[in-house]
Amino acid sequence: MDDADHEAARRELVAGLRRRLDVDERTLAAIESVPRHEFVPERHGSRAYADRPLPIGHDQTISAPHMVAVMTDLLDVGPGDRVFEVGTGCGYHAAVVAEIVGPGNVYSVEYVPELAEAARERLQRLGYDVTVRAGDGRTAFPDEARFDAAYLTCAPADGIPDQIVDRVRSGGRVVGPVGRAGTQRLVRLTVGEESVDREDHGGVRFVPMQ
Ligand code: SAH
Repeated sequence: MDDADHEAARRELVAGLRRRLDVDERTLAAIESVPRHEFVPERHGSRAYADRPLPIGHDQTISAPHMVAVMTDLLDVGPGDRVFEVGTGCGYHAAVVAEIVGPGNVYSVEYVPELAEAARERLQRLGYDVTVRAGDGRTAFPDEARFDAAYLTCAPADGIPDQIVDRVRSGGRVVGPVGRAGTQRLVRLTVGEESVDREDHGGVRFVPMQ
């Protein structure tokens, strides 16, 4: 497949997402802008624009495009918002969010050092200014000011850790899967001054948080 084929496949993917999902055009435009085939292992390149998860090595997976769209939409961020991602993986989801919030505004942490290194290089090569660190999402970026939003692409078994919720400003949102394999739910927390509001967005399947 050449670039024109990839672009056509990507347009078709987005047209399908537009029909099936109730998400913002801004989210769909971001998905249409990011070359997903650059993020998946070469042998899966021809399937990069099918709406399904793919293996990215180290027993990890890149989420299906519709899941990236739904989560990005729930984050409800715009240009200039600062976003914290837990689980960089191949960097695809970070690139989609960076399309919306702009350069320098996505901070991502990845547990597997080799994946972090590869994602950092890939994002840089593709022109995305995303800050990638290797480490644990619970303790990453201690010196950064509170974020406008955070999301997890791995599932903590017992709810989103307070350490991650605490990194988000009042009024900000945290989106991610919670629970054990087979019973995971996608949740959105809205952080208030005194309390945290929780919405359930249905059953999902993600890799466990380490
Ligand atoms: N957003 C990614 C999806 C990656 S899959 C993408 O677009 O490719 C989830 C990732 O979370 C895996 O790479 C896994 O290594 C990472 N992860 C698991 N536990 C983690 C933790 N405690 N801190 C940071 N990353 C973690």
